[in-house]
Amino acid sequence: MKLPIYLDNHATTMCDPRVVEAMLPYFSESFGNAASRNHSFGWIAEEGVELARKQIADLIGANTKEIVFTSGATESNNLAIKGVVEMYAERGNHIITAATEHKAILDTCKHLEKQGVRVTYLPLQGSGLVDLEMLRDAITDKTILVSIMYANNEIGVIQNVSEIGRICKEKSVLFHTDGVQAVGKIPVNVIKDNIDIMSMTAHKMYGPKGVGALYVRRRNPRVQISAQMDGGGHERGMRSGTLNVPGIVGFGKAAELCGQLMESEMEKHRIMRDRLKVKLETALEETYINGTMDQRLPHNLNMSFAYVEGESLLMGINDIAVSSGSACTSATLEPSYVLKALGLGDDLAHTSIRFGIGRFNTDEEIDYVANKMIEVVNKLRELSPLWEMFKDGVDLSKVEWTAH
Ligand SMILES: *Cc1c(COP(=O)(O)O)cnc(C)c1O
Repeated sequence: MKLPIYLDNHATTMCDPRVVEAMLPYFSESFGNAASRNHSFGWIAEEGVELARKQIADLIGANTKEIVFTSGATESNNLAIKGVVEMYAERGNHIITAATEHKAILDTCKHLEKQGVRVTYLPLQGSGLVDLEMLRDAITDKTILVSIMYANNEIGVIQNVSEIGRICKEKSVLFHTDGVQAVGKIPVNVIKDNIDIMSMTAHKMYGPKGVGALYVRRRNPRVQISAQMDGGGHERGMRSGTLNVPGIVGFGKAAELCGQLMESEMEKHRIMRDRLKVKLETALEETYINGTMDQRLPHNLNMSFAYVEGESLLMGINDIAVSSGSACTSATLEPSYVLKALGLGDDLAHTSIRFGIGRFNTDEEIDYVANKMIEVVNKLRELSPLWEMFKDGVDLSKVEWTAH
C-alpha cells in the first residue's frame, strides 16, 4: 500500500490508463482538426469525436445530436443557465435552484440576478433533499428553468430527479440538472429521469480534465439555448471553438468504461463505504452522518466528528487525501455552505470529512483510513477540555462562556 491515500474522488478522479491509451494517438498521428472537411486528417479526428459522442450519449440514454462538447461542467452549467435565460427571455425571467448547488450554478445565478433575473434558492430538508411541494409552489407563470443537481458533491445525496423533472414537465418549465457526480457512477437516463438539459464533466469519471458536455434535449420538448461563445459555429452553433479532440476521445472512453463497470463498482464501493462507516461508528462516539443514507451515492460518506478541532483533525490525517467542511480548506472563510444548509452548526460543519471512494481504492486502504481516523480522533479528544466536560455529563449547550 502506498501513501498518501487518495480518497477525494468527488474532487477529481485519476484518468484511467485505458482512457490515456485511447487518447494518445490523437496527440500525434491523428492530430487533425475535427472541423477540417477537406482531408483525412480532419475526417479521422471527426471519427474519434463522433465515437465519443455516441459513447457518452449511450451512457445517459440520449441521442448523439443532443451532446454538446464544452471545456467542463463549469462551462456546461454557465451555458445551460445563461443560454436558457437568454433564449427564453420572452417567456419569463424566473429560475429556481437550490441553496446547495455547486458554485458554478450559484455564481451564475448571482450574476444573472444583477441583470434583473429573479432567482429562487430553495432551502433543503435536513436529509439534503429538495421538498417537492416547495418546488411546486415556487413555480410561477414567469418561471422558465429549474436547475437542481442530480447528486451533491459534498454529501452525495441523490435528489428525486425524475419527480422533479415530472413536475417541471407538468408546468412546462425546463429542467436542467448538474449531473457531474452521478453520471457514470449510478444509472442516469435522460428519458426516464425527465431531464431536459444536463451538465457532465470527464475528470469526475476517470477521464481527462478540461473537457465536459451538455446534454440538450431535441424532442419533447426541443430545447434551444443561446450560445455563450461565438465563433465558427461548432457544436450546432451552441458552442464555438476547435474541439479538444484527445480530451473528447478520452471522455468517450471513460463513459464507455463507466457503463461497463457501473454495476460492479456500485456494489464494490458501497461495501467499502459501509465498512468504513461501521468501523468509525463502532469505535467512536459522537459521530454524525451528514445527509440521508437512504438516497446517496454508493461511494460517498460525509461524517462529522464532534469535540475535535477541524484543522487539527486534517493535520493528523495528512497521509490521507480527503476534503473537509472546514474553512481552512477553502478560499472563503465560511465553513461548508452545503452542511450549513442542512442545519448543521459551525462546530459540526468544521469537523466534517468527506470520503470519496473511487475505482483505484483497495480494502487495505479503507482499513488504514478507518484505523487512522479512530486513532487521531481519540488522541484529539484526549486533549480536549470540551470532550472532558461532555464525558463528565456537562450539557455544553447550557454553559455560559465568557469572552476574554
Ligand atoms: C466538479 C463539479 C463541477 C465543475 O466541473 P469542472 O469540469 O471542474 O468545471 C460542477 N458541478 C459539480 C457538482 C461538481 O462536482
